[in-house]
Amino acid sequence: MIGLQDYGASGYKIYELIARLYPICRSITGDGLRQTLETISEYIPLQVHEVPTGTNVFDWQIPREWNISDAYVKNADGQRVIDFKKNNLHVVNYSVPLSRKMNLNELRRYLHTIPEHPDWIPYRTTYYDEAWGFCLTQRKLDAMEDGQYEVRIDSTLSAGSLSYGEWIIPGETDERVLLFAHICHPSLCNDNLSGVAMLVELARVLSSVPHRFTYHFVFAPATIGSLSWLSRNENIFSKIKHGLVASVVGDSGKMHYKKSRQETAAIDRAAMHVLKQSGKPYEIVEFSPWGYDERQFCSPGINLPVGRLTRSPNGAYPEYHSSADDLSLVKEEFLADSLETYLNILCCLESNFRYKNLQPMGEPQLGKRGLYRKMGGFQDVEILQLAMLWMLNQSDGTRDLLDIADKSDIGYRQLDRAAVLLTEHGLIEVSQD
Ligand code: ZN
Repeated sequence: MIGLQDYGASGYKIYELIARLYPICRSITGDGLRQTLETISEYIPLQVHEVPTGTNVFDWQIPREWNISDAYVKNADGQRVIDFKKNNLHVVNYSVPLSRKMNLNELRRYLHTIPEHPDWIPYRTTYYDEAWGFCLTQRKLDAMEDGQYEVRIDSTLSAGSLSYGEWIIPGETDERVLLFAHICHPSLCNDNLSGVAMLVELARVLSSVPHRFTYHFVFAPATIGSLSWLSRNENIFSKIKHGLVASVVGDSGKMHYKKSRQETAAIDRAAMHVLKQSGKPYEIVEFSPWGYDERQFCSPGINLPVGRLTRSPNGAYPEYHSSADDLSLVKEEFLADSLETYLNILCCLESNFRYKNLQPMGEPQLGKRGLYRKMGGFQDVEILQLAMLWMLNQSDGTRDLLDIADKSDIGYRQLDRAAVLLTEHGLIEVSQD
């Protein structure tokens, strides 16, 4: 069954994949993105799609493909004072090609630092503006002397395509759960490699256990990638019953669930229930049209029941979008804990049926069916007893298991177990209405 094992070893596997993907220079298009999808394909059978430059996706257009082989700023002695080969964050992502000489004053306009964290390199992009720039530590900038510098960016912007990958794991029904991670950030671990690698492990776990839903995993660049996927999958929107956007799942922060635009969808109720039952600190965030790709999944014309589950929320940890979001920020234990939380939520959704009480005139006599305080083997007989009474009372065909969990404050697993027992004894049945 989903979510009942110990996922400690998974934390290590997730971390290992993050470490493998970390050095690659990714962007919203280009070979780094392809190489990332290829690496993921070694773990799960990803289907990779290419959307050609110029293709319209809703109100957007696929940009020219960006690739980069080298970039640097050399001082008068010919030393590389800023070197893309040492850290791919040094170049503003999507910078146009360039070869120029300029003095420090002129160059300064194109240099980005984080003054309050003088040892960190910021992460900057210029996807939709033809521009260029370099990012460096404040300490490095302070040490740069006046004089001439040679500035070179060996990048290309040309007709190509945007790549994304997906894997559909069929279940008993074609009703789908969408699991999405953006995959466009270069050497940054928590945002977004933790989400990418955790979903890979989640997909592997799910593919090894029986399940009702069809799980649809999508790995695509932020915004333009999710828009590309959405524009090519309008025909399956009605099948998507639940969804989660994953990123920032490896840091020590508490879990944050951001509600879908629908606010009371089953995914919202399942996530809130699991976090509450976990006994660990957590926070629920109301929907807002800001953040990750939930913005696209929850745009008004699409409005899918897709929430977002992170540890620290995006932008709310100091290392966010800087070189300090590195391998030391993500830890196996937090990755494993995030994976388990995802699995617990999916487990709830898998069995979140509405039941109908088949003996609704008064309480059915549980004793003569061996269901009253005779449940050998269970340590938590009292809770199970109570769970059965709640299930019997609330199962009028209108309330699902999550509603009853919420009302009764009894854990989902107990209610599910009670539902199985009561079904076996012919006292309730799944409502088909
Ligand atoms: Zn980001």
